[in-house]
Amino acid sequence: MKNIHNLNKDLSCDILIVGSGAGGSVAAKELTSRGKDCILLEEGSFFEMDHFNGSIKNSMLQAWRNSGFTPIVGNPSIAFGEGMCLGGGTFVNGGLIWRTPTNILKKWEKLIDGYTQNNLNDHFNLIEKNLEVKIENNQDNLNKDSQIIFDHAQKKNIKSLFVPRALKYCKRHNNCSTGCSSKGKLSVVEGYLSKVENDLRIFTNSKMIKIHAKNNKIDYVEVKNKKDNSIKLIKCNKLILACGATQTPLLLNKSFGRDVGNINMKIHLNLRLGAKFKKNIYPEKGTIFTTQIQEYLYDGVIFMSSNINKSLFASSNLKMPTDELKSYFENFDKMSNFVLQVKPESSVNMKNLFNFPILIFKLSDNDLEMIKKYLIYFSNFLFECGFEEIILPFQKHYKFNSIKKVRERVNNVKKKELEMISVHGMSSTPISKEKNHFFNNDGQSRKFNNLYCVDASILPSNIGESPQGTIMAFAHEIVKRIN
Ligand SMILES: Cc1cc2nc3c(=O)[nH]c(=O)nc-3n(C[C@H](O)[C@H](O)[C@H](O)COP(=O)(O)OP(=O)(O)OC[C@H]3O[C@@H](n4cnc5c(N)ncnc54)[C@H](O)[C@@H]3O)c2cc1C
Repeated sequence: MKNIHNLNKDLSCDILIVGSGAGGSVAAKELTSRGKDCILLEEGSFFEMDHFNGSIKNSMLQAWRNSGFTPIVGNPSIAFGEGMCLGGGTFVNGGLIWRTPTNILKKWEKLIDGYTQNNLNDHFNLIEKNLEVKIENNQDNLNKDSQIIFDHAQKKNIKSLFVPRALKYCKRHNNCSTGCSSKGKLSVVEGYLSKVENDLRIFTNSKMIKIHAKNNKIDYVEVKNKKDNSIKLIKCNKLILACGATQTPLLLNKSFGRDVGNINMKIHLNLRLGAKFKKNIYPEKGTIFTTQIQEYLYDGVIFMSSNINKSLFASSNLKMPTDELKSYFENFDKMSNFVLQVKPESSVNMKNLFNFPILIFKLSDNDLEMIKKYLIYFSNFLFECGFEEIILPFQKHYKFNSIKKVRERVNNVKKKELEMISVHGMSSTPISKEKNHFFNNDGQSRKFNNLYCVDASILPSNIGESPQGTIMAFAHEIVKRIN
């Protein structure tokens, strides 16, 4: 990328975009191509797609916020993962690009105008073209776990689909969370930022720390150059926030206090199920899933296999004694890993305590019941597929070889015993026609009319499916409405 600079002086521009992930890259490319004078700020660094050469440790330390996972404390506590580099989450993610589920768009029609399937269709067509989205078909037959659950679902008439992903090709290197060591996956850096035709000034390692307003207009922002810790000021006519679902509301809260209101972020929860098959399925030759069970999407539940190698297996099973881990490693060719993703009604409450962000979560009883129901359902499904042993995401008593034992254990599990992570945060400052929301239907602030937002924060609720496509389609629509 030739237009990346070091921020070494105060600047001014027409439109300042902060955050270079799914939402920010759309704004930067679209507005620059309309001839606007834009600056794009990114707190993290720029890395070539294959920079980490498959090293999860190095990628987490350098390209993820908080060296991997941000703690969300509560009952149970959750680890939250976000990208922090040029491309944001799209650099470290699996590249799944789904269109917004139709039931969700229908539900949102009560809250927002002009974001129907018809309104978003052209945006999705463009996103899919720019990111070279294609349906994975598992023709190489390497993702055996995906194929096994797909075939069984077909037999039982359960809806299962091959997934669409942003990639030129997939060489099954199995390390999407590090970028992509074969450079096959496309982030928004390849799909959007590197295709900007007019001048776009990009500043990496540049963290916006405060927004300043004058007479109900944004005037300038303070930016910290993370290389030398100097503070620079950038004056702008319009400010577009795209810092992601945690950072955007926290920055607004830090700059404008109570005007932003109570911040509640919606998330998806991922529960990992380990499973041992009766025959070798060679998990390390496959990659992130190629199929997904979507029969229960409208309940907010999807199920898929996940990429796994020995270090990922070990790091997600730190509870295991060494002997047990060793015995799984000896049988690793039979192992597989699945993800049950659920859309909880519970949300994450965010506070700035003396400028230190605190994220708090309390799983509701309804959510616990839904999780229990689907853990039992999919454990049974896996046993039917021919898996002989299942490792459930519990801190103790997690290994099962019959559905009877799964049922007994799951029915008595406590919230605090659940091991869950989340990599999808959204709807923390949702756009709405209702006047009490900070951002209006056009993604524009009700208080400062030259302030906009285009990241995951603005989605009206959680959607139950991978959100990148929806975030980008909304960003396209909002940017279209900016003069
Ligand atoms: C491991 C993982 C796997 C995932 N897999 C998928 C998937 O396959 N499909 C899918 O649809 N979604 C997936 N997601 C989620 C998806 O990547 C995110 O929902 C999406 O990237 C969010 O877009 P965004 O624009 O809101 O924020 P982000 O993409 O997170 O971008 C925000 C950017 O803003 C920068 N920033 C934040 N604060 C500041 C500041 N103060 N100053 C300057 N810059 C700042 C951040 O460093 C970051 O680069 C995954 C996420 C993760 C972590």
